[in-house]
Amino acid sequence: MGAQRLKNHVGGKWVEAEAKATHPVTNPATGERIAETPLCGAADVDRAVRAAQDAFATWRQVPPVERARHLFQLKFLLEEHFEAISETVTRENGKTLAESRGSVRRGIECVEVAAGAPSLLMGQALEDVAPGIDCEAVRQPLGVFAGIAPFNFPAMVPLWFYPFAVACGNTFVCKPSEQVPLSQQLIFGLVEEAGFPPGVLNLVHGGKEAVDALLAHPLVRGISFVGSSPVAQHVYRTAAANGKRVQALGGAKNFMVVMPDADLDGALDAMVASAFGCAGERCLAGSVVLAVGESHARVRDGLRERIASIRLGDGSKDGVTMGPVISARHRDRVVSYIDKGVEEGAELVVDGRAAAVPREGFFLGPSLFDRVAPEMTIAREEIFGPVLCLSGAKDLDEALRIVGAHPLANASSIFTTSGKHAREFKVRVPASMAGVNIGVAAPMSFFGFGGAKGSFFGDLKAHGREAFDFYTDRKVVISRWT
Ligand code: NAD
Repeated sequence: MGAQRLKNHVGGKWVEAEAKATHPVTNPATGERIAETPLCGAADVDRAVRAAQDAFATWRQVPPVERARHLFQLKFLLEEHFEAISETVTRENGKTLAESRGSVRRGIECVEVAAGAPSLLMGQALEDVAPGIDCEAVRQPLGVFAGIAPFNFPAMVPLWFYPFAVACGNTFVCKPSEQVPLSQQLIFGLVEEAGFPPGVLNLVHGGKEAVDALLAHPLVRGISFVGSSPVAQHVYRTAAANGKRVQALGGAKNFMVVMPDADLDGALDAMVASAFGCAGERCLAGSVVLAVGESHARVRDGLRERIASIRLGDGSKDGVTMGPVISARHRDRVVSYIDKGVEEGAELVVDGRAAAVPREGFFLGPSLFDRVAPEMTIAREEIFGPVLCLSGAKDLDEALRIVGAHPLANASSIFTTSGKHAREFKVRVPASMAGVNIGVAAPMSFFGFGGAKGSFFGDLKAHGREAFDFYTDRKVVISRWT
């Protein structure tokens, strides 16, 4: 039986894409082809955007409390189908079922927070700004927004965006990653069941061509993007040049600083989970450990010991703690980074290339490098796979200089029992998601999410209160009634 060719969801209906070309969707644990993503172009995108634009005229007038009711309904349906969605995430992305469940939970939390729209959309007012003159600021929706997502969190990342956008009264076109379209395909069935009016939420499949059509479309008012930094920068520049509002979350190289005074057992557990959870395919994955002072040898031994207990395999099976990477191509890319690290003189303490792996699927064992200098390729570039780099730093000052010199600044963590060190790190670290004794500094849905420097292009971050700013215009009305 051939793999199912996916449909778009436009104007409340499943519709066949006009585009003929497809991208194969593969279960990374088995190599089995499970679907075909149509690679939509301008015509399919235009159809979805027009459906969204048509729906906007009435949706913007639906009272916020009623819009929130649709989100409550969606939340109930997501809960009801929680296992099926989590299993789909594992099947198309490869992460373990426990990791998929965690990510779906995070997605649902976004729906919950967005359902607070009636309170969170409130404006401000002041009487008598001048004699007999009152002033009010209200939030108004803008129109059609589009969301473009990466492969690593197929259910969660789009949910960072559209619940907030539609809660504010906008309409939306969602474009998942062509590598992992199935979770959103499933969720859009629930969107339909939740009773959103046709065209409020639309799903269009595809890759670069679909993205470029969204960036160029005159009816799209704003873009929410998550992906690698070069694409984030392209999206930011193009969308801004076309007069759109844009938030573009990019790639990461996350540092974890271990002080000699750290609770080392806890720190090592957290660092290994951070680096190898989701097979390192996580924008919050710790990528470089900086062991300060005399902690270096103990950190190295502790990391090696814990890495040995990682159980690689099909993420849908019990007891597996690390799944495959997304594709054969990506595995080759990660392997080429390991080769490069060796070539440039880093010490390969654990070699993931040599791990015993299942014959089918895109597996790669966890790797650990020591003596990684900041100028080496593996210290500079995002690897986005199960590879952890370690190096020493004389003191916190030197560690912070290394962290600060890196062009990416998504997340960073310190492990310490000293309030003084923790505070100095919090104040000086450039990453805008910072952890203190936390390996994955993930802001929850009621806070903003996004990095700094080359990890983020835009002003307003994803979810939290900032989402209500991103998805609305703050109109100021000044009135005189005499
Ligand atoms: P990617 O940049 O290759 O793709 C992201 C999206 O852009 C996809 O929908 C894809 O179809 C589209 N796209 C790809 N190339 C394009 C191009 N040349 N022009 C226009 N559109 C294009 O990213 P990915 O490999 O799917 O995801 C991994 C990346 O995402 C990593 O760099 C990771 O750090 C990043 N990420 C960041 C965050 C964050 O919060 N900052 C969260 C998750 C993932």
